[in-house]
Amino acid sequence: MSFTDLGLRAELLKAVAAKGYAQPTPIQARAIPPILRGRDLLGGSQTGTGKTAAFTLPLLERLADSMPHGRRVPRALVLTPTRELAAQVADSVATYGRGLDLRSAVIFGGVGMRPQFDQFRRGIDIVIATPGRLLDHAGQGTVDLSRIEILVLDEADRMLDMGFIHDIRRVMKRLPARRQNLLFSATYSPAIKELADGILRDPVLVEVARRNTAAEGVSQTVHPVAKADKRSLLAHLIREGGWNQVLVFTRTKHGANRLARQLKNDGISADAIHGNKSQNARTRALSDFKSGRVRVLAATDVASRGLDINRLPHVVNYDLPNVPEDYVHRIGRTGRAGETGAAYSLVSADERPLLREIERLLNRSIPVSEIAGYAMNESDRAETPARPSRGEGSAGGGKAGRFNGASNSRRKPFRRRTSGRGGAKR
Ligand code: AMP
Repeated sequence: MSFTDLGLRAELLKAVAAKGYAQPTPIQARAIPPILRGRDLLGGSQTGTGKTAAFTLPLLERLADSMPHGRRVPRALVLTPTRELAAQVADSVATYGRGLDLRSAVIFGGVGMRPQFDQFRRGIDIVIATPGRLLDHAGQGTVDLSRIEILVLDEADRMLDMGFIHDIRRVMKRLPARRQNLLFSATYSPAIKELADGILRDPVLVEVARRNTAAEGVSQTVHPVAKADKRSLLAHLIREGGWNQVLVFTRTKHGANRLARQLKNDGISADAIHGNKSQNARTRALSDFKSGRVRVLAATDVASRGLDINRLPHVVNYDLPNVPEDYVHRIGRTGRAGETGAAYSLVSADERPLLREIERLLNRSIPVSEIAGYAMNESDRAETPARPSRGEGSAGGGKAGRFNGASNSRRKPFRRRTSGRGGAKR
């Protein structure tokens, strides 16, 4: 299958060729033809699969195919959970749409409304937006959403996680009933199914990675380590491995700041990216990281969402995420579009329950490697869960006593060398 077989016009093929893409990724090959036919689509795919082009290319094709006369009002709307993802989708729209007479605008909060309003006034075909700011504009009557022909919900699972469901519904009320709907999500929860059922009409289903599986081509390793030794282990791994570009996940904004500061003190260039930083600071941190000026980017889950960094070789979970699905999202930052990458998790004893939930979700255990000089002593190994386990929902595993491996045959990597401390300690 080549791009020319997909039914895209010459301008789009040229833009794709200029990007150097030899052939469509699986999601592109499967999603582009039905979208071009006007079908609704439910796309199950993670970042890194080429999903942005999978909806952007046919969206541009369809809009270019039916240029209206007169003033331009938005005909396509892409909703994303974060500003970064909105900016990245907008970049893709601009890149692929270079040869077409279509105008796009990216709309998110944290920056002034006025320039956005001016863009609408000049006439826009495609709006890429986070839900909150779009509603601000809609509420003030500065954007007319009544002529939207194509709606895309990108990373819908994350939008729900971030509590955008009411905003999404409010946006929906402003759209015309007849339209094409495309919904992309990396995971399928009952909430996503409900959202999809309410929005999509007889959708084509395109699923590229198996449900909740981690990105292929990514090696995963757990390094057990005492909490107090995490930073020194990280610095050790970065130096010994000669890692020049590593995205490090922390659970909190404060943790991201602190880690970046400490690494700098250790002589390793680092910056932090999280929701408390201004849009400008986030953009600058990301571009410094992409260009190699900064070796380590410490990020929270929300801020990292959708970051498109080509060939990111290393991802580190400095803290394990509270939500197992976030692990899949995090390691999806590496090994993108056929590249290989490596994900390392620094796991202290209190995080073992979280690790087990992740392994349960992945339905596999993650290989453990103890680094010489960082082995835990007996008191480091004492397991006091950081927080109670989350509600059930993922596949497999025991019901009661989830922290207690005694009656469970799944491999418990951490228990190999411990003397049988066990039991659910709450
Ligand atoms: P996405 O899943 O949309 O975030 O895309 C992941 C990465 O894959 C981006 O850096 C794209 O530029 C790249 N990409 C998209 N389509 C292709 C393709 N057909 N061949 C190679 N790389 C691609």
